[in-house]
Amino acid sequence: MKNAKIRLYVDADLADGQAVAVSRDQSHYLFGVMRLKEGAFVALFNGRDGEWLAKVTAANKRNGMLVCLEQSKPVQMPPDLWLLFAPIKKARTDFIVEKAAEMGAARICPVSTEFTQSDRVRQDRLQAHALEAAEQCGGTYVPEVAELQKLDAVLANWPADRKLLFCDETRVGEAVTDLTVLGAGPWAILIGPEGGFSAREVERLRGMDGVHSVSLGPRVLRADTAAVAALALWQKALGDWG
Ligand code: SAM
Repeated sequence: MKNAKIRLYVDADLADGQAVAVSRDQSHYLFGVMRLKEGAFVALFNGRDGEWLAKVTAANKRNGMLVCLEQSKPVQMPPDLWLLFAPIKKARTDFIVEKAAEMGAARICPVSTEFTQSDRVRQDRLQAHALEAAEQCGGTYVPEVAELQKLDAVLANWPADRKLLFCDETRVGEAVTDLTVLGAGPWAILIGPEGGFSAREVERLRGMDGVHSVSLGPRVLRADTAAVAALALWQKALGDWG
């Protein structure tokens, strides 16, 4: 099979013989920066149709055209895992979104808690980070990044069948739970902000059905580290790292 060194996300449907127009930015990147010429190969994915090997049929710096030749990977859906996290500083929030996409979260939900410092996030920017992460890591799925919502509102509408792994810093030093005993199914992980959760939030979460309050070990981790650690623990025990 021909080799494509560049992977690109596109909105268009992908299928045998499908022509795909690339955007101005992508054309700039493919034909201006990477200097691809007609006849070169690019791997395309759209989050729905797997990955396709495509051939460049028109190349100029403002627009271009590719044609799908053959499917190089089927779409691989991640496990049904959401990551809920309280936004922190911009670069660290970007890091959380990027790592969550790489590590196989199906949905990424910023939530604002009592001690959340930043009350605004640019959903479109975070979504672009998730997309770029999928491009880089060979994923064929792009997790949706939800708009920022208040944690209280999210919990008020919590789906009865989805379990929640509440990463609870008040349990620091306790043994880390073996997540395999908690059972498979739809799950979410919840990570708090730099200031942690308020006593009211901890009480509410601990009182909810389907919420499992867990320790992440003997040290208090920064929120971005905690997100990566919790995703790794969950993926190994209950996800697709097994
Ligand atoms: N300022 C808080 C404190 O000193 O207790 C720590 C908050 S921590 C920086 C941010 C989030 O990471 C927490 O809300 C929690 O969700 C998670 N976290 C960090 N370390 C943890 C641990 N050892 N066990 C459980 N959760 C942890």
